[in-house]
Amino acid sequence: MAKAIEEAVLKNQHLVVEAGTGVGKSLAYLAPLLLNPKRGRGPVLVSTGTIALQEQLIEKDLPLLAKVLKRPITFVLAKGRNHYLCEHRFRRVAGQLSNVAEDEDDLRVLDRIPSLMGKGILGRNQLPGTLSDSAWSFIRSETGLCGHAKCREHPCSYQRVKVELKQADVVVANHSLLFVHLQLAKQGVSLLPRFKALVLDEAHHGPEVATEHFGIHVSNSQVDYLLDQLYGRKAGKGFLSRVQPAPEILKKKVVALRSTSEAFFGSLHFWLVNQGPDNGRLIAPLEIENPLSIALRELRELLENWAGTSTNQDEEREFRYFASRAWMMADEIEDFVKLKMSHAAHWLESRPAIRGKGQRVTGRSAPLDVSKTLHQILFEEVDSVIMTSATLSTSHRNPFEFFRGRMGMPMEHPELVVPSPFEYQRQVCLISSKSFPDPTSQSWLDELTPKVKEALTWTGGGTFVLTTSHFALRHLHSSLSTFCKELSYPLLAQGITGERGRLLEAFRNNPHSVLLGSSTFWEGVDIPGSNLRHIIIPRLPFEVPSHPLQEARVEDLEARGKSPFLDWALPQALIRFRQGFGRLIRQVDDQGLVTVLDPRLHTKRYGKDFINALPPCEWISTGTPPSEFLNQLFKHAKLDSN
Ligand code: SF4
Repeated sequence: MAKAIEEAVLKNQHLVVEAGTGVGKSLAYLAPLLLNPKRGRGPVLVSTGTIALQEQLIEKDLPLLAKVLKRPITFVLAKGRNHYLCEHRFRRVAGQLSNVAEDEDDLRVLDRIPSLMGKGILGRNQLPGTLSDSAWSFIRSETGLCGHAKCREHPCSYQRVKVELKQADVVVANHSLLFVHLQLAKQGVSLLPRFKALVLDEAHHGPEVATEHFGIHVSNSQVDYLLDQLYGRKAGKGFLSRVQPAPEILKKKVVALRSTSEAFFGSLHFWLVNQGPDNGRLIAPLEIENPLSIALRELRELLENWAGTSTNQDEEREFRYFASRAWMMADEIEDFVKLKMSHAAHWLESRPAIRGKGQRVTGRSAPLDVSKTLHQILFEEVDSVIMTSATLSTSHRNPFEFFRGRMGMPMEHPELVVPSPFEYQRQVCLISSKSFPDPTSQSWLDELTPKVKEALTWTGGGTFVLTTSHFALRHLHSSLSTFCKELSYPLLAQGITGERGRLLEAFRNNPHSVLLGSSTFWEGVDIPGSNLRHIIIPRLPFEVPSHPLQEARVEDLEARGKSPFLDWALPQALIRFRQGFGRLIRQVDDQGLVTVLDPRLHTKRYGKDFINALPPCEWISTGTPPSEFLNQLFKHAKLDSN
C-alpha cells in the first residue's frame, strides 16, 4: 500500500485503496507522503469521516510514526473558523456580557474568558465550561465579521491557527470541512492551507457527505437563529439592542419577520400533514405563497441602508454581515420552494422542536449525483487524491466500479486491494439458517426475540445486535429486558439507555453486555479483545427504500435504464454488511461468532454476494455453532461456560 501511494504521488495520480482491518493503513499512507522528497511546500491533508479516526491519528498514529521515523512531525487538527474565539468581538460585548449570556452558567464561562485570552489558542473546546450556542454565536470568529488587516487583536486565536495549519507537516480535517473548502476555493476563499497531497480516509463516507453539503437545507430554526442574533426575544439581546441610536425600524422588521416565518413554515407543516405523502417528498413546486423571502430581502435592504449611515466600522461590518445572511437565506428558501435544484430529491420534514414549543420544519433539496461536482473540485484541482477505507469494494470482478462512479474518480487512475492480515478462517465462525422466516413476513418479528435469546446464550452476552431500524431496536429492547436481567447481562440500547460514548464504555466494562445498535454502530466502533465476541445481524442491511432521496434515486436509475437493486441497493447493503461484520475482529487474537438471522443469504441469488463479500471464514449454515468453537471462545474470554 505504501509503495502504491508513493508511486501515485510521484506520478501525480489519484489512487483508491481498500485496506482490510489490521493493515495499518494510516501508517501506510502517512509514511510515503511525509518522506516523499517531491512533496513541495504545504502539509499533507488527511480527511476523515469520523471524530474517532481523527483522535486515533492525533493521539496514536502520528506520534508513533514520529517515533519510528526518529524525526519530529508537526500535526494540527483543523476545525472550521466558527470553532475559534474572535477576541475582537468578545471585547466589543465584554461590557454587556449579561446581554450575551443565556443563563448563569453562560455568564460564569464568559466571565472567565478574559483571563485566558492571549495565553494560546482559544477554541470552543478550550473554554472553562459549556457555553450555549446562542452566547457562542456572539463571540466566535466569522468570515464576514473579520477585518483582520486592521484588527488590533491580530494575531488572534484564529489567525494563529491559520499559521499553525500552514506550517504543519500533517493537517487532519473532516470530509465536511474539506468539501466546503473545495467549494469555496472556487470563489477564492480558503479554509485550509494549500496542500500537495490529500488522503481521504474512511472514503466510503465521501459521497454521502458531499450530497449533504451540495444540497439545500432551510428550516424555521435557521430563520429564528438569525433573527435572535439580530434582535433577541428576551429584552436587550442581540446585535440591534447594542446599536446606538436604537434602530427602531429594524427591530420592528425583525419582530414582523418572526410572524411571517411562523406563518410560512406553519403552512409548509400544514401541507405536509394534510396533503403531503408520508415521506414528505415534493415532486412539483408547492403552490404556497412565499412572503418570507420577500421579507428577508426587505430586511437585507434596511440593514444595508443602516450600514451605509453607520459611523462605526465594526457596526457597519456587522450590519453588512447580517444583510448578506438574510439575502442568502431568502435565496435558499426561494430555491427550495420553487424546487430550483435540478436532478435532485426534494422533501419536507417536520418534527417536534428539541427545545421550546412547536415543530421544527425543514425543507431539503439533495443532488442525486455528486460525481460531476466532485470530479471538478477534487480530482481536477488536487494533484494526487488517495482514497482509502476498509470497505470500498463491492464485487470481485470490478471491485471499485460503484465507489468510483459515485465519487467521479477518473477511470484511468489506479486501484488496489490489500487484504487483512487476520486469519478469519480460524478467528470467525459465521452462523446462518435457511429455516428462519423471511424478514418481510409477518412471523419474522415474532420469531426474532426467541432466536436472539438463544444466540445470546451461546456466547454469554458479549454481543452487538446490529439492527436496520429503530423499530426493531425498540422491539428487541422491550422483549429482551427481563431475559437479560435474569441472566445479569447488561442490556444497552442506542437512543434508549444512553448516548453512543456511554454505551460503549458500559459495554467495555462488562463481558456479558448486550448492545442493541442501529446506524452508527455498524461502523467506526473499535472494541478489541474478548468483550465483543458475537455480532448478531437480524436482517441484511438494505436501506429503507421509502426515504425521499432513495425513492428519487430509484426513479433516476430506472429512467437511465439501470437496475435500482443491482446498481444501488445491493452494493450499498454489501458495504454495510462488511462494516457490521468488521466490528468483530480488531486484532490478531480476537475470536467470535457472526450470526445472520436473514434466510435470504440462502434463498436469494444475491445471498452469495454477501458471503463472497466477507473474508473466507468458517460458515455453518445449520443455525447452530459448533460446541468446540464456543468452548474455545469461553476459554479465550476467561469466562465460566456453565
Ligand atoms: S483578526 Fe478577525 S477573527 Fe481575529 S480577533 Fe480580529 S476580527 Fe476577530
